Amino acid sequence: MIALQVDGVTVAFDGEPAVDDVSLSLEPGDVLGILGPSGSGKSTLLRSIAGLERLDAGRVSWHGEDITAVPVHRRGFALMFQDGQLFPHRTVAQNIAYPLQIAREPSAARVTELLALVGLAGFGDRRVTELSGGEQQRVALARSLAAEPRLLLLDEPLSSLDRELRERLAGDLRRILDETGTTAVFVTHDQDEAFAVSDRVAVMIDGRLRQTGTPAEVWRRPASAEIARFLGYTTVLGGDAARLVRPGSDGAIALRAAAVVVTHGGPVAATVVRSTPSVDGWRVRLAVPGIGEVDGIAGAQHPVSAGEQVSVRFDDNAIAELS
Ligand code: ADP
Ligand code: MG
Repeated sequence: MIALQVDGVTVAFDGEPAVDDVSLSLEPGDVLGILGPSGSGKSTLLRSIAGLERLDAGRVSWHGEDITAVPVHRRGFALMFQDGQLFPHRTVAQNIAYPLQIAREPSAARVTELLALVGLAGFGDRRVTELSGGEQQRVALARSLAAEPRLLLLDEPLSSLDRELRERLAGDLRRILDETGTTAVFVTHDQDEAFAVSDRVAVMIDGRLRQTGTPAEVWRRPASAEIARFLGYTTVLGGDAARLVRPGSDGAIALRAAAVVVTHGGPVAATVVRSTPSVDGWRVRLAVPGIGEVDGIAGAQHPVSAGEQVSVRFDDNAIAELS
């Protein structure tokens, strides 16, 4: 069964397509992550699904019904943004209750239930301006879920938070979407976040969807060098160079820096081109005969400097095959 169907949607600004012939579908209760660099058209696609953009081509359907011409407020979808856009002069409970009032179904019990769902039980009477950024986004999430939207559209909801909080909230968001059985489209430029929250991920570059799959499929088998680079693979190798790293490989492979590890007595010789301290030790640039220059890592106990001869081993866990 398909809940959301997007067919050949194109949205152009001044003749330049921001979203270019995008098609996707989403099953009820699933979370689709739209992952792409800044400016790739993610927000425009999300706004198109919401009904906030005029489409130059294509169609949006919900359970088989064409809703392209249905106005935003009739779609029964909810939107949540990077800055939660809370009402600063209302309390937490009043913010969450707002969609219920609009629907003429005010319910204090429902507000209490939503507060508990997002981990803010007892926060109802607080002013939203007294909350931390993370707490504000929890309130925004509760508010978007209040009216039980048919589809929740999330535009970089965690991007304004710092990393540790973002990781924790990504986990909570996944749990909350699961518990409520919410069908959602989740836009982000952060691959860890997309993979943590989504059932399926669609990679968007330059207005087009380039690859769709489960997080593991996209992560282990990126469809192109461009996608691999966006996902943080720093080197793409083909032919003999690829076979030196992974004997028997017949296509291109992509390596993260962690794939090339400086090791005493490793099987492959290399020369250090550059070495920079990092949180886990050293980030190095290495010249490897037969392969060329690649990024690698050296442990904190293994400082290396430019010009040094070292040996390396390859770590398969940080290597992907291009599909
Ligand atoms: P993302 O969310 O992936 O960062 P956007 O969808 O915001 O990307 O933008 C995609 C492209 O469309 C960008 O080049 C952006 O400048 C352009 N764009 C977005 N909205 C408008 C608009 N209202 N008018 C003109 N150009 C726009
Ligand atoms: Mg955006």
